[in-house]
Amino acid sequence: MKMKIFKYNVVLIGCQMNVSDAERIKGILEDMGLVNSNERNEADVVIVTTCGVRQHAEDRIYGIIPRIKKHNPKSIIVLTGCLSKRQDVINRLNKHVDIWLNAKDMANLSQLLFEKLPTLKPQPKNIESLKNYLSLQPKYTSKYSAYVPIGNGCNNWCTYCVVPKARGSEAYRAPEEILNEVRGLIKNNYKEITLIAQNVDSYNFIDESNNSTSFATLLQQVDDLEGEYWLRFSTNHPKDISNDLVQVIKNGKRICPHIHLPVQSGDDEILKAMNRNYTKEEYLRLVDTIRINLDAELPATITTDIIVGYPQESLDQFNNTAQLMREVSFDMVYISQYSPRPNTASYNLNDNVTTEEKKRREDELTEILKTTNSANNRKYIGKNIRVLIIGNKKGYIIARTNTGKNVKIKIDNELNSKQIIGEFANVTIIDAESYKLYGKIIKSQ
Ligand code: SF4
Repeated sequence: MKMKIFKYNVVLIGCQMNVSDAERIKGILEDMGLVNSNERNEADVVIVTTCGVRQHAEDRIYGIIPRIKKHNPKSIIVLTGCLSKRQDVINRLNKHVDIWLNAKDMANLSQLLFEKLPTLKPQPKNIESLKNYLSLQPKYTSKYSAYVPIGNGCNNWCTYCVVPKARGSEAYRAPEEILNEVRGLIKNNYKEITLIAQNVDSYNFIDESNNSTSFATLLQQVDDLEGEYWLRFSTNHPKDISNDLVQVIKNGKRICPHIHLPVQSGDDEILKAMNRNYTKEEYLRLVDTIRINLDAELPATITTDIIVGYPQESLDQFNNTAQLMREVSFDMVYISQYSPRPNTASYNLNDNVTTEEKKRREDELTEILKTTNSANNRKYIGKNIRVLIIGNKKGYIIARTNTGKNVKIKIDNELNSKQIIGEFANVTIIDAESYKLYGKIIKSQ
C-alpha cells in the first residue's frame, strides 16, 4: 500500500527569532517525514509563528487562522511564538488551533503531532531527549545566509514589551554547541552568519566548572573560525555593550561593522518610564565610542528602533528624540507607533497621544531619516567595495554590503549575468539614494 506523504506549511509572522524558531520546527517535521508545501490549503500541518509586539501583527492571525480552518478543515494548526501563552488569544482561537506550542516546549512537538496523526513516522529519539530547543537541528531557509540563535528570553522588562513574559527569562546555549553549528554552516559554504538573541550583549554562559563566557568572547571565538564568511549579530541593548565587545568587533576579521542599537526614545524621562536603564547622554557616548573605534574608510552602520507616542510623551519629549536622530545620523530607523500590549507594564497607562499625532511624529522622524541616511549613503559613491549577492529583480542584481546596505546592480552585460546568488562580488558604487546604493560589477583581474 502506498504510504501517504504528509505536508506542512509555515506561516511566518514576526522577528528573526521567529524565523529561527520556524527553521527548528521545520527540522523536526522533516525528521518525521513531512515535506514542505507552499500550498497552505493542502497542508496536513500548518505552523503559525506569532508576534505580540504590535497590534497589527497580532490582528493578522485573527484573519489567517480561521481562514485556514475554513478552507482546510482537516489541517492540524500549530500556533507558536509570542502569543502562544496569552490567555485571551487562546480563548479567541481555541476552536481553530490544535496545538499551542511555547518555543521552550518545541522538543515535544513530534510527540504532540504523533498523537494527532498516528500514521506519521515515529519520533526520533534524539529529539525526545533534548532539553533545550535551540539544540534542535534546523532546516535553514537560505542556502547562504543563516541565523544562529545563541539564547532565548529576556530579563529586561521594558515596560512596553511582551518578550519577557512570552519567552521567559534569558537562557543561553553553550559556546561549543554554537561553534559547532557555525562550523557546519561554514563547511556548507554559508557566506553570512548572524548570531541572534533578544539581547546578545547579555550572553553569559556558565559551564559546570563555573567558567563564564561573555558575548565578546563568544564573538571572538566564532570570528576565529577559518572560512570566507561575514559575521553579524543582533540585537543589542545599549546598557550592555561592553568596551571589550567594541574591541572584538574592531579587531575582527569577519565581523561586520553594523550595530543595531535600539534607542526607543531620545528623552530621559521617557527612557526611564520605559525602564530602558540608560540616558540620552549615555547613548550618545556609546555612539561616540562606536564611531571612534569602528569607523574606517566608510563609517560603521548604526541602526535603531524608536517608539513614538509612548503614554504621556509630550511634544518637547518627542522633539528630544528628533534631535537625537539628527545627532546620530542613523542609517536606518524602524519607527513604530506605540500600542498598548496585554501582559506589559505600560498596558494600563493612559495611551493619550492620538493616532493622528503618532502618525505625524512618525512622518517627521521618517523625513529626518531620509535626509541623514541620504548623506550617509553618498559617502559610498566612488568606493570599490565587496558585496554579497542576495537576489535579482526586474533586470537588477540585488546585493548587500557588510554594513548592511542594499545595492542595486543593473544587469546589462555578460559579466553581470554571471553573478550568483550567495556569492561575494566586487562593485563600484556609482550612485546613492536614502535607502539604497547603485553599483556596477568590477571585472576581476
Ligand atoms: S530588551 Fe526590552 S525591548 Fe528588548 S526584548 Fe527585552 S524587554 Fe523587550
